[in-house]
Amino acid sequence: MIRYDCDRCGVAMSANDANRFIVKLEVFAAASPIDVSLDDTENASGQLQEVLEQLKNADPNEVEDKTYRSFRFDVCDNCRKYLIANPLQRTTDS
Ligand SMILES: [Zn+2]
Repeated sequence: MIRYDCDRCGVAMSANDANRFIVKLEVFAAASPIDVSLDDTENASGQLQEVLEQLKNADPNEVEDKTYRSFRFDVCDNCRKYLIANPLQRTTDS
């Protein structure tokens, strides 16, 4: 039997446990894509060259983190309730 541990609190769960939930998190860049049109190829080429220069000196892991990251967690019912109530783990101080 496949056994899971809650990724947040560590409680044991079975594969078909009614109290096992999956949490997916995606983080990706919100910047819009480079606008490329036939009427403005010189400007688009400049933007592309600028991006390539930035990538040349960048840490590949940092580029990947800033572009797209996804996570998948198994959580128990108590942790599901906690995460739904406060998904971004906001503090009241701000
Ligand atoms: Zn839990």
